Amino acid sequence: MRKIDLNNFQVATSGTARDINRRIVLNLIRKHQPVSRADLSRQSGLQRSTVSAITEELISDRWVNEGGVGHLPRGRKPKFLHLNEQRVGIIGVNIRPVTTAIALAGLDTNFLTRESMNTGTDSWTFTQELIQRIGSLMTAHPEIEYEAIGVALPGRIDLVTQRLVFAPNLGWESFDLKTPLQKATGLPVELENAANACALAELWSGKHGESVRNLIAVTISEGIGVGMILGGQLVTGSSGMAGEFGHVTVAEGGPLCSCGNRGCWEKCASNTAAVNYYNESRNGGPKLQNGLSFDNLMKLVDQGDRKAGEAIDRMSHYIGVGLAMLIRGLAPDVVVVVGEVTRAWNRAGPIVNSVLRERLAKTGAHVRIVPTDPDTEPRLRGTIALALQKHFGAPIIA
Ligand SMILES: [Zn+2]
Repeated sequence: MRKIDLNNFQVATSGTARDINRRIVLNLIRKHQPVSRADLSRQSGLQRSTVSAITEELISDRWVNEGGVGHLPRGRKPKFLHLNEQRVGIIGVNIRPVTTAIALAGLDTNFLTRESMNTGTDSWTFTQELIQRIGSLMTAHPEIEYEAIGVALPGRIDLVTQRLVFAPNLGWESFDLKTPLQKATGLPVELENAANACALAELWSGKHGESVRNLIAVTISEGIGVGMILGGQLVTGSSGMAGEFGHVTVAEGGPLCSCGNRGCWEKCASNTAAVNYYNESRNGGPKLQNGLSFDNLMKLVDQGDRKAGEAIDRMSHYIGVGLAMLIRGLAPDVVVVVGEVTRAWNRAGPIVNSVLRERLAKTGAHVRIVPTDPDTEPRLRGTIALALQKHFGAPIIA
């Protein structure tokens, strides 16, 4: 049960019940489409007349289309309802330290277009270029009804100021991306931490079943981010900083992190950590080309390079160490792992699972660890979920 927030509540009006029922019907259509009004009435327990009134409203607001006549016994021919996939166009922006991806998607969350640009080191220059890119995209697709821009960032967004406040891997100072982007495009902008965006995308579009209400997304890239859905709701903490497990110490006296702490989880288990392990192991060996990337390291593993394999093994051990902490502390139903390391999950997975078995032996925890496919671009998909959740989520009341 959620305590009523006496600083931020809305009393129930005559529209409240209607709003709740409308969202329930919209979600039932999304889940069961194509679906008839009679089925919606059965599934919701609402009167046929109420369902009809709500669906008329959804059709007139263009959220739902009517089409396809069903054939049922006794000659009845109900018209089926389905979501109007063209109702909203969402621009998704996934910012990572080197490259930023920009995509255009509809209600079905499939990408209609996808392009990328350099992120660079200067936030002002980046913002100007991003505005220009989005402007060109909108001009190139005038037929789309643009709804919002969702942005995933490798950092945390202050809940009050909406400024990017903590992004050690991006190297940018605290800054406001939302205001200039909204001003230039005329669209609402939803900013969110990348791991939170991934968690939302998994909640809304993942294949986890309705009973999954406690889901954790762990993004492993240059750093490590954690997004937590507990009780069906994203956990933000009082300032928006919740989920920074990447900067919790797991190796006492370990290497210094850009956050100022030592031995942080991401210092031991991120892509960057694996590259560092490999470089250390080659100390004194033939000189490498500058800046070995994690992708290069993965290629070396594929080619049978023993030291590259050991670097991934060590990274995987520490992924397990951090996941054990999360699972023991938060008791999720599912943990989704997002990142390039999932491409080597046949190697990393057994190591992670062995650490979990060892550390969670007596907890009886039955948690599904689900590696995601990097080709599906979970972070970018998360930006679309950000914009959609305000239409499909429960209304904020009391
Ligand atoms: Zn740190």
